[in-house]
Amino acid sequence: MDTKDFIDFGKATIDFVANYVETLREKNVLPDVEPRYLFNLLPEKAPQKPESWQEVLKDVERCILPGMTHWISPHFHAFYPTANSYPAIVGDILGNSLSCMGLSWIASPACTELEMIMMNWLGKLLGLPKQFLSSNEGFGGGVIQGSASEITLICLIAAREQTTLSTKQLHPELDEAIIKTKLVAYASDQSNSSVERGGLLASVPIRLLPTDDKCALRSETLLKAIKEDLKKGLIPCCVIANLGTTGTCAFDNLVELGPICEEYNMWLHIDAAYAGAAFACPEYRHFMSGIEYADSFNVNAHKWLKDSRKLVEACSVDRIYLKHDKQGVIPDYRNWQIPLGRRFRSLKVWFVLRTYGVEGIQQHIRHDIQLAEMFENYVKSDSRFELVTERSLSLVCFRMKGDNQLTQELINRLTARRKIYIIAATYREKLIARFVIGSRLCREEDVTFAWDEITSQATEILRSVTPPLEEGSEESLKTRLWQNQKV
Ligand code: PLP
Repeated sequence: MDTKDFIDFGKATIDFVANYVETLREKNVLPDVEPRYLFNLLPEKAPQKPESWQEVLKDVERCILPGMTHWISPHFHAFYPTANSYPAIVGDILGNSLSCMGLSWIASPACTELEMIMMNWLGKLLGLPKQFLSSNEGFGGGVIQGSASEITLICLIAAREQTTLSTKQLHPELDEAIIKTKLVAYASDQSNSSVERGGLLASVPIRLLPTDDKCALRSETLLKAIKEDLKKGLIPCCVIANLGTTGTCAFDNLVELGPICEEYNMWLHIDAAYAGAAFACPEYRHFMSGIEYADSFNVNAHKWLKDSRKLVEACSVDRIYLKHDKQGVIPDYRNWQIPLGRRFRSLKVWFVLRTYGVEGIQQHIRHDIQLAEMFENYVKSDSRFELVTERSLSLVCFRMKGDNQLTQELINRLTARRKIYIIAATYREKLIARFVIGSRLCREEDVTFAWDEITSQATEILRSVTPPLEEGSEESLKTRLWQNQKV
């Protein structure tokens, strides 16, 4: 292929993407493939001779799309959907084309500085306290990380190093390695799995603490755990609090937890991976009361530190080839993250914020929440269902009344039909279904579509378990459901 061919390939791919996005509503959200399906479709080796770009694009249609779970589909209501937009896609194209590695300021000044400015724009959009922003007065600032998991890990490492240092200053006789074996961090039992994993990777055990009936971590529980651990000779070093848990979008009480972290000199990291974006709308900012106590805060996209020096101290390793004469004047972002290299991802943020504006972002968030309210009202209007926790932002947690097996069966059937995608979670002993709105493409008709799909399956399920099981009957609900499905 010559240069013109490659440019045509690029243009055709843009058209392909637009067509994909605009026709997503018509596709099943879940794929119908078995593990290793792709191995049957693609050759075992790279082609010896060049192939045409037309053949390559044809194979995307033939081999890749059938194996896709469509995360931006308006029928995707699982996990927390990925936000995507045309300006974000275009920003990625440009970032990849410039192909810089912004590991230090000199490695690409525009890459570092646009990120600093974009993180300030985003911080202001979310109403974060000014200590989190980059300025000449403090050491705050934001950084784009690869994922929320990375941020938790990095903050745990920074907290570990900070506590080790302060303990060593108080007890110079103690060995640093010994101090590190005594560190402990806390999070609620509702926190994302990535928090526990961060603890494993940073070698700081995380104690998962029980929550109240709103799934929030409260001060008495945290204090009790700290006191128990101090008695055992352990050293509390970090609390990872949730603003918007994965299961039910619950909010920990920062106003209660913050002062405890201050008293015990512990790092307070806030995981607001999903819910943080809602703070773009002032009416939801009450959920982050107490944010001023935090040392660090993350939202997908992205993360802020109140004092970046602590992270740099924990993460920096210098080499002669990394040195430049502006070091210390402006961030070298490699010290704020795990990899050395970094892409020019702030272009994406820049394009999105400029083409949507603050008002456009707010409108999108409010629209999603309105659609979730619409779904909530559907659930309330049908006596076969119940809401398990209050709707939180655009997440509705609901279930079929009765045995957990009914809700499990509902989710199994919906997944097998592939038209909408929702997943399960648990609240206390109850199995619940989570319904999230997040796709930019989602409209009222999609919520109605999802509700019709859910209720039609619920009707089938209930028909198959009628007449109701007699009390003490040998036949379990599970057996009945299974037998009916075989028929
Ligand atoms: N924290 C919360 C509250 C989440 O909901 C998630 C993912 O859904 C994560 C962390 C992990 O996110 P990431 O995939 O960016 O690591």
